[in-house]
Amino acid sequence: MNKQALRRVNSGLKPVRKYNKTLFCPEFILILQTEIDTIMAELTHQEIKIDTSFYRISEIRQLTESTFVLSMPRCRFTFRPGQHISVSIKGDYQTREYSIYSGNNDEALEILVKEVEGGYFSPKLKGLKPGDYLEVHGPFGKFGLVQKKLDTHKHVFIASGTGIAPFHSMVRSVPGLDYQLVHGVRYPSEAYERDHYDEERYVLCTTRDPENNFHGRVTDYLRQTDFKPETAFYLCGNSDMIFDAMEILKEKGFQREDITVEVYF
Ligand SMILES: Cc1cc2nc3c(=O)[nH]c(=O)nc-3n(C[C@H](O)[C@H](O)[C@H](O)COP(=O)(O)OP(=O)(O)OC[C@H]3O[C@@H](n4cnc5c(N)ncnc54)[C@H](O)[C@@H]3O)c2cc1C
Repeated sequence: MNKQALRRVNSGLKPVRKYNKTLFCPEFILILQTEIDTIMAELTHQEIKIDTSFYRISEIRQLTESTFVLSMPRCRFTFRPGQHISVSIKGDYQTREYSIYSGNNDEALEILVKEVEGGYFSPKLKGLKPGDYLEVHGPFGKFGLVQKKLDTHKHVFIASGTGIAPFHSMVRSVPGLDYQLVHGVRYPSEAYERDHYDEERYVLCTTRDPENNFHGRVTDYLRQTDFKPETAFYLCGNSDMIFDAMEILKEKGFQREDITVEVYF
């Protein structure tokens, strides 16, 4: 491509030389690619790069019989707390999404996984050992802290089961965050790594074992709790819990824009 044609491309004009020849010359493809990258970055308002790489499992923390944390060296992986990755295992055509459990200042990239009985993928994850590799795609998703409310609102996180994962990432990533975490499980043993949260900010709701906890579902807890108007709600987990919680919050006078949602299944 001659200088004049290059100038026209840079200034947003079409090159005037023979179209096919110009379109497929290396300089033009380079310019086109740079422009596409710029447009994509502007569209997402982020400089985060979508990555696809193999990550070696360095550690597995077994939290209960069925639930575990897969830990991998993070390398150059960047993300916003609340985002998820898509994971696959070598030789398997299936992928599944998992919220990033670790914080964005942690050295490891971690996911929290519950083995679903009769499920296809999570039992395969359970069978992995340190040294095995995972193919990781991402990060993806818009779930995350509402930036404009960061310093003005209390952030109430409502999770069922492994829905606690993105909140773990947020709490680890933003020291001093004014939050309350309401975690719904069946048994107290499912209070995954409870010591990672400020004791006074963590409410465990158990449906099967009332000992020292709120006895009931997270939705029962929400019904009988008052919240200040300056509260940002975040819901993560199974869809039944999320729909019920949204109804309760609506009855309490909160609007859809006060609530951010991530549905797992
Ligand atoms: C954005 C996003 C983030 C997610 N993050 C996590 C995470 O951090 N940790 C995690 O463990 N899972 C997470 N999931 C769910 C995960 O992607 C898989 O669906 C889950 O691991 C089950 O996969 P499977 O192949 O074993 O089951 P499948 O064979 O795909 O499904 C079997 C059945 O299990 C149900 N199911 C799916 N997940 C669960 C669950 N957690 N508990 C009970 N039943 C379930 C499905 O609805 C289906 O009916 C996330 C899902 C989404 C969409």
